[in-house]
Amino acid sequence: MPHFERLDSIPQRAMAVSAHPDDTELNAGATVAKWIAAGCEVILAVCTDGAAGVAEPGLTSGNVVQTRRAEQQAAARRLGVHKLVMLGLPDGGLDDTTEFRGLIVELIRRYRPNIVLTHDPCRHREFSHRDHRIAGTVVKDAIYPYARDRLHYPGHIRQGLAPHKVEQLLLWESDDPGIIVDVSGYIDVQAAALRCHETQLAGLPCGPNPESWLLNRAAAAAQAESFEAGETFRRLLAP
Ligand SMILES: [Zn+2]
Repeated sequence: MPHFERLDSIPQRAMAVSAHPDDTELNAGATVAKWIAAGCEVILAVCTDGAAGVAEPGLTSGNVVQTRRAEQQAAARRLGVHKLVMLGLPDGGLDDTTEFRGLIVELIRRYRPNIVLTHDPCRHREFSHRDHRIAGTVVKDAIYPYARDRLHYPGHIRQGLAPHKVEQLLLWESDDPGIIVDVSGYIDVQAAALRCHETQLAGLPCGPNPESWLLNRAAAAAQAESFEAGETFRRLLAP
């Protein structure tokens, strides 16, 4: 069991970017809750509208979008995030485009996070959702070089937004995690936030009662550590 490098410092501002409603809560919810409790300002951006996320017959995609938006708003409140941004892009339809990258660059330049959390786009041991891979790639590119360099997306600069350098990118669901955050005491908040995504629970790996699944996963991650519960990430330091 590997020892991970511990990330103990609390960023001043962090931004989590998920492909779908519920991804951040499932993969980094305890870290986000811990940082917020310690005074970090957290922005949560959700790229898609989640329209493909419910299989119940009788629900139209319009109903689903409304429901998932309300669920995401409740989950964000439960975590205590300071700003929720829902980009409303089509579920299952994310593409690595100039426009999508520009939306993320604009968020980075507007909210100026020290740390960004998102999907690891480079998984090689398991299947991953295409939206997760695309979101991870676009966020990584948006941080470097696009948000940092003023000649990219100059329209933002004309609107008064300054270029911004993100310091660290933390990638969740990684095949090669190297960083662990001690989240002991924050799994209950993570579980409560995840339970807000009522329509999703049955289809998530944690099932309808997320606490024990999340606790087991966090305990397994922290098996070789001196604390009880951890969330792991692959970290890239931005140039
Ligand atoms: Zn997802």
